[in-house]
Amino acid sequence: MGRVLFRGGTILTHDANDHVIPIKSDLLVEEKVIKEISPDIRLPAGSDVRVVDCTNKVVSPGFISTHQHLWQSLCKSLWSEYTILEYLCLGLFDNAHHQPSDIFWAELGGALEGIDAGTTTVMDHAHFHYSPEHSEAAIAALEASGLRAVFCYCPSSRLQKHHPLEVDGDIFCDWSMNKIKDLAQNAPYGDGRVQIGFGLDEFRFDRDTTVKVFKQIKAYGIRHVTTHYFRSPAGAKDSRLALFDIYGIVDPDTHWVVSHATNPAPGDAKLLEKHNMYMSAAPSSAMQMTMGHPTALYHRTEDFFPRASVGADSHAICGSSLPSEMRILLQDARAQFNDSFVEQWKSPVKLNRSVEDVFNLATVKGARALGMADQIGQLKVGLAADIVVYDGSTPALYGGAQTNPVTAIVMLSSPADVELVMVDGIIRKENGILKDVRTVPKDQRWREGASENLTWTEISAKLIEKSNTMRERIHSVDEQQMRKDVMQFLRVDPAVVVG
Ligand SMILES: [Zn+2]
Repeated sequence: MGRVLFRGGTILTHDANDHVIPIKSDLLVEEKVIKEISPDIRLPAGSDVRVVDCTNKVVSPGFISTHQHLWQSLCKSLWSEYTILEYLCLGLFDNAHHQPSDIFWAELGGALEGIDAGTTTVMDHAHFHYSPEHSEAAIAALEASGLRAVFCYCPSSRLQKHHPLEVDGDIFCDWSMNKIKDLAQNAPYGDGRVQIGFGLDEFRFDRDTTVKVFKQIKAYGIRHVTTHYFRSPAGAKDSRLALFDIYGIVDPDTHWVVSHATNPAPGDAKLLEKHNMYMSAAPSSAMQMTMGHPTALYHRTEDFFPRASVGADSHAICGSSLPSEMRILLQDARAQFNDSFVEQWKSPVKLNRSVEDVFNLATVKGARALGMADQIGQLKVGLAADIVVYDGSTPALYGGAQTNPVTAIVMLSSPADVELVMVDGIIRKENGILKDVRTVPKDQRWREGASENLTWTEISAKLIEKSNTMRERIHSVDEQQMRKDVMQFLRVDPAVVVG
């Protein structure tokens, strides 16, 4: 691994109050960590060091997506017109079309899309476990991808037959709980990059059952939990955070990320604070799917900002670029705030939120949400070398990158401007191109004949082939019948569905 010297860039550091301080400096990486940040670092002659010229470049902390479903990358664009109800009827059980080898390629594709866009850490909400092999394939892909991840194994109801609809709701069955235990006790994976967490979306069991499961999870050594929560006419009306509070399942040593927290109930923000939980805003999916405006940066009565982070959610809905999600989140928060004045025919003197606020959700606050602030989230000596280099001379970034580098990233950039990405001291994207991926011999069972060393061209060819197959499988299902059957299965009140 050796040493890498980022020479002469604009380094985005953070002060103790979370303010971003851009400095002209060098940054030295040794093995997996940031060893030194100072101007004009001199190394002894003959030193084995790789120098990256960062003239006119912006060196940023890698981005942290605290809510994402990497397995959904073979369903790209399929859910971009869905409401939450349509997703529940037509998308939720698309996991049933995935064999373990599909999951391997889907997770690899999702992880690499993130790295390409500057994402270096993902909390992966994984709800596709139809067999123990499904999770093994996912872990193998995460190891190969180079991404840092908290793989949250989410047991969920398994579709057995489309029509008549048959669903296996025994989500805490022996093989599944044994697999979680096995994965957790053998963790971490990928040279320490991949940890095991737990996900749960189905809180339909009684208190004793739920409490018992969370005790088991703790006994397995799992310290990360995630769940979806939003109030919706098509779903739950009650506060799930209040339920967690009553059940007493939030362990103080466990890092909880509650995804969305949209249309919140009164007191929800205080419950996050009380239990030291964080929320993850996923603006594209929430705003599209009738789940409500994101709450991370603005809400009329509750303040979620102290406990907020951001995620890209679903590849089947939107791209996984976090700067893109940051931009949507920021402008929506500003629009809601501005509207609250305009409704009274007044005009605010200033905007309510800044690009720095939203940039921090994907960096320092994302790290806090995962309980990893001592490892990732900022460019600081001693922290892991998770680094993104933006080319400040591209058509999108020139001028902005030199004047307001954080604004340039949040408001102007796309993944095409990301020149280099390093995760855990290893360069995974260079000169704007993803580096080859090395799998291991035991992954052969998932690769389906593909070679051990994979170029992006080979990977994308396989992903296109698999996406085509997935689309055919999904479109072979009778859509109208599924809408009817799943509505009944989920006990959605037809009276709330209009249009
Ligand atoms: Zn989600």
